[in-house]
Amino acid sequence: MAAVRIDGKAHADELCARLAKEVAELAAKGVVPAIAVILVGEDPASQVYVRNKVRRAAELGIRSLEHRLPVSVSQEALLELVDRLNRDAEVHGILVQLPLPEHVDPQAVIDAIRPEKDVDGFTVQNAGRLAVGQPALVPCTPLGCLMLLKAHLGSLEGLEAVVVGRSNIVGKPMAQLLLRENCTVTIAHSKTRDLPRVCRRGDILVAAVGRPRFIRGDWIKPGATVIDVGINRISEGGGSRLVGDVDEASAARVAGAITPVPGGVGPMTIACLMYNTVAAARAQSGL
Ligand code: NAP
Repeated sequence: MAAVRIDGKAHADELCARLAKEVAELAAKGVVPAIAVILVGEDPASQVYVRNKVRRAAELGIRSLEHRLPVSVSQEALLELVDRLNRDAEVHGILVQLPLPEHVDPQAVIDAIRPEKDVDGFTVQNAGRLAVGQPALVPCTPLGCLMLLKAHLGSLEGLEAVVVGRSNIVGKPMAQLLLRENCTVTIAHSKTRDLPRVCRRGDILVAAVGRPRFIRGDWIKPGATVIDVGINRISEGGGSRLVGDVDEASAARVAGAITPVPGGVGPMTIACLMYNTVAAARAQSGL
């Protein structure tokens, strides 16, 4: 039987509809949630991501303030901007679009963001809070994956979860979130031995590798729920298209459910940025 397709776009629209109501309630009390987005340079993919985030924010009534800086901007100037936004009471969230140019240390800039305004959840403080089980702003992509998993499976308690990838922005926080849900979690990476065997353990399999169609159907436990985080642009049939880290055609014959690419995790990532921004605005205004 073919796997159920988990519609990330529909889930994201539903979450955003709820958030729009919350934003209206906050606005009625004099608080308009606001996010500052810092974009350095002309990277086309980053420009698309920022455009999509700003568009979603506008739909929800969230104010966004774009700071576009030339690729030559100094780290010092970036830190000054972050400092100014940290002190601006009308800005509830600060997002630094990655990647930054090579002469800038991205973690230094990110860690300059006040943790309460770190709506991407990338600061060391928020990563640490998540790791020790304190309330934190959680990175948007793994948060979106978790929401999809819970919407589809209900309780995740006791399930075997395998996360392929250990980046700070996806794999590690994903594993922390699954652990918090009482899954038994395995994190796999490029040095993992016999990856297909490890993947087959997962009732839940999260792929965050960055390799097109890397995980095939025969690596998947029959009936597993597969979350495909990958976004890879490939050339095919004379054009180009986006594919995930999972080979959707073979995986869909084995898995119980799977997120498509595009239309799976991607829309949830942006919706969760809005979720974090509203949460940050609430926390900072005491509402
Ligand atoms: P990343 O920082 O490059 O991390 C990739 C991870 O995959 C690393 O931990 C790496 O292991 C592991 N890996 C690489 N080759 C492997 C192999 N042959 N076998 C097993 N593991 C392997 O990437 P990322 O930022 O986490 O992103 C992962 C994917 O998600 C990318 O396609 C990215 O575009 C996508 N993404 C999507 C969204 C979204 O909104 N949908 C958001 C963020 C990222 P090592 O640590 O050992 O090197």
